[in-house]
Amino acid sequence: MYVPFYTPYLTGKELELVTDALTRTEIGGDGFYTKKVKSLFEAKYHIKHLIPMTSCTHALEMAMLLINLQPGDEVIMPSFTFPSTANAVVLRGGKPVFAEIEPDTLTIDPADLERKITAQTKAILPVHYGGIGAKMDRIMEIAVRNRLYVVEDAAQGVNASYRERYLGTWGDLGCFSFHSTKNFTAGEGGALVINPIHPDLVERAEIIAQKGTNRRQFLEGQVDKYSWVDHGSSYTPSDLLMALLYAQLTESETITAKRRAIHEYYQFHLQKYEDDGLFRMIRVPEDCRPNYHLFYLLFEDQTTRDRIKDSLKDEGVEAVIHYVPLHSSPMGLRLGYYEADLPVTEKISRILLRLPFSTGLTAAELEYVVTKIKKVLEKKECHKQLYR
Ligand SMILES: *Cc1c(COP(=O)(O)O)cnc(C)c1O
Repeated sequence: MYVPFYTPYLTGKELELVTDALTRTEIGGDGFYTKKVKSLFEAKYHIKHLIPMTSCTHALEMAMLLINLQPGDEVIMPSFTFPSTANAVVLRGGKPVFAEIEPDTLTIDPADLERKITAQTKAILPVHYGGIGAKMDRIMEIAVRNRLYVVEDAAQGVNASYRERYLGTWGDLGCFSFHSTKNFTAGEGGALVINPIHPDLVERAEIIAQKGTNRRQFLEGQVDKYSWVDHGSSYTPSDLLMALLYAQLTESETITAKRRAIHEYYQFHLQKYEDDGLFRMIRVPEDCRPNYHLFYLLFEDQTTRDRIKDSLKDEGVEAVIHYVPLHSSPMGLRLGYYEADLPVTEKISRILLRLPFSTGLTAAELEYVVTKIKKVLEKKECHKQLYR
């Protein structure tokens, strides 16, 4: 048997809805399924202003345009994230300022973030790693006190909440991903969530997404000419992609339940090894309701992590590492950071191993993975006191 780290999951409704989308005339942006996606987010998540986008990367770029990020402005974010989080800032001439993560949740450390605020700071960009919410109540309090914007990178956080509030709806702006590796997918896609305290940003976001034109107002008959009115780009997804996404979103509870079962299976069968000190598993804090985006183990050191990863590979189980910290990446070093700047982030990135996690994992595959993990762990050389 070979169990890949990840395979996309289809609910079975996709083909029918995409075919239906093809029979409608509006296969570009803002069509039938785009509207369905928007209404679903409003009904289920109480998100009034959601702009479907071509990716979360584009939603992050849009967010930086909407807050008018200027050259030299600083945005504080974790280094333990995907390059898109920082690129959105760099593309506008801004400076990403990297803060530490907390070792229990791997989300931004509010105390370190607060230390990094300067007169140039314009925004905070927390990342909800693995669908576990960053400490949004503290982050919002720090932001309000320092008059900073909060833009959530909720790429992995759709259908998850922190203190009973959905991820992506805490800050001024929130960014979702529907990439093929995420829980709910359009193949490629994303969305920008605009907090209702900023109704003025909705029209501007629609203009930016529509190549800097007032096409939407024109289509709705509000203006009689369609022209260039602001900065813009092409950020609107095709209705075919939104049909695919809609099929997935209508099954979001089934998808989440399946993922939760995988999480619980791993947790139950690996608990003994955590108790023996061989590794530490992902933890779900009491105030987080996750969407079970991923499952990781933290080992004592990189050598152990790499040995387990390679042994699992030999057994047909694809377990993978995650982010290479941005501050010590080639681009981070060019921006003037040093590896030693963020020791927790460096350490976590070297000891973290993600286990296979696909919504469609079968019972036989799960059992196979756990059997192989046990086999690999029970090899004598792993029996030292490991990470707690
Ligand atoms: C997936 C991901 C992105 C990028 O999402 P795309 O939709 O592929 O652009 C950005 N940030 C984080 C934390 C992600 O996990």
